[in-house]
Amino acid sequence: MFGVICCPKCRFVTGVDLQFKTKKCIKCNYQINLKKVRVMFKTEDNSELGDLIIDAKKRVENGNIFIDSY
Ligand SMILES: [Zn+2]
Repeated sequence: MFGVICCPKCRFVTGVDLQFKTKKCIKCNYQINLKKVRVMFKTEDNSELGDLIIDAKKRVENGNIFIDSY
């Protein structure tokens, strides 16, 4: 299962493999805890991930990010 998440520090949108617990943001180097960040989209289809990331980036630009505060 793949997911699209947004870095809580710098709002960089990235795709992740949800079998992992953490993901290091390639932009700001922040160690993102995948248990604590809201997954914006989920998909089983790797080929779909690119489109979902593009969609998620648009939402972040519009300020419509679904991240739990913690
Ligand atoms: Zn970041």
